[in-house]
Amino acid sequence: MSLAQRLREIIAAEGPISVARYMELCLHDPVFGYYATRPRLGAQGDFITAPHVSQMVGELLGLWACEIFSALGRPKLVRLVEFGPGDGVMMTDVLRAATSAAPEFIEACEIVLVETSPPLMEKQARSMRECGHEAKWIEGIEEIPSDAPVIALANEFLDCLPVRQALRTEAGWRERLVGLDGVGRLAFTLSANEAPCDAHWPAAASSGAVAEWSPELRAFGASVGGLLARASGAALFLDYGSAEDEGLADTLQALRGHCREDPLARPGEADLTAHVRFAPFLSAASAAGAETPPTLAQAEFLRAIGIEERAAILGRSRPDRAEQIGRQLRRLVAADQMGLLFRAACIHSKGLAPAPFEAAA
Ligand code: SAH
Repeated sequence: MSLAQRLREIIAAEGPISVARYMELCLHDPVFGYYATRPRLGAQGDFITAPHVSQMVGELLGLWACEIFSALGRPKLVRLVEFGPGDGVMMTDVLRAATSAAPEFIEACEIVLVETSPPLMEKQARSMRECGHEAKWIEGIEEIPSDAPVIALANEFLDCLPVRQALRTEAGWRERLVGLDGVGRLAFTLSANEAPCDAHWPAAASSGAVAEWSPELRAFGASVGGLLARASGAALFLDYGSAEDEGLADTLQALRGHCREDPLARPGEADLTAHVRFAPFLSAASAAGAETPPTLAQAEFLRAIGIEERAAILGRSRPDRAEQIGRQLRRLVAADQMGLLFRAACIHSKGLAPAPFEAAA
């Protein structure tokens, strides 16, 4: 049995399923899901993320977290949370930098890792042991109590949240579904009825346009906003996506061995993501009572928190690695690499003003 077979059975019994349900099964099915059973992160795996490109990302986020801790008035207890920590490399870098910059912050920290993947939890546990820190694992944000301030970080977590898709046809919006073709292979099909239209879609869309929306992303935005409003604190999300709802696009993407492939080709064997629509995510957080300054391009954010200075210091202390560090820096900030495609989004409680985000107009 494979996930493709299981999906064929589900679709044969229940009819075509939404793209969101397809993503959910591909990523999290306990027996066949990509994250549940065979996530492969890093250079040797399926995809490489910013903390794997360079330790500078985690280190700078560690210093950012120290500033938030100060702005919160150095509380006795603060929850340092990471959503979707992968193999734990970013948290290790965060903790190393924060320990030397503000040991009292680390003393006040309860480290909370939000993860659903058993194999990745194991890797995270190893990383935590190796760097000498204790952490607590939970599966969802609703398990975080609001009796202490929260500082939360996440890299490439939001893009895993399932999206639904709709296609503009002559007859209006139809939901894009995963069904079976004439010979029983997985294939995209359309709902017979009108798709539930979304306020964030442009009214004038021409036939053939694809729109995406994510009830999970919004619900998560509302949870983050609500938690930070109650507990106080700040959360930072780095991910690829669009600042405002810039037009419409089909951004469903499967990555395997660093190559893009047809998202229906090998369900459960590839990482499956979609670009993050920051606008609905942030408006849900703001409706739940938090502040949501405008997002920044990753290049702008990392430069503002000192990545060029950090690269220069690292390069001077390791001249043998200076060229490699320069390459890593370019990969993170260059406009034709990760610099513009990725964005930084901040959600925070009222009264905080995390740099380098400008207060929303
Ligand atoms: N942040 C890491 C890993 C990114 S991959 C890095 O940048 O390298 C996405 C991570 O989110 C994985 O750890 C995956 O298991 C986790 N994840 C995906 N969906 C999740 C969900 N619904 N709840 C909790 N964790 C999830």
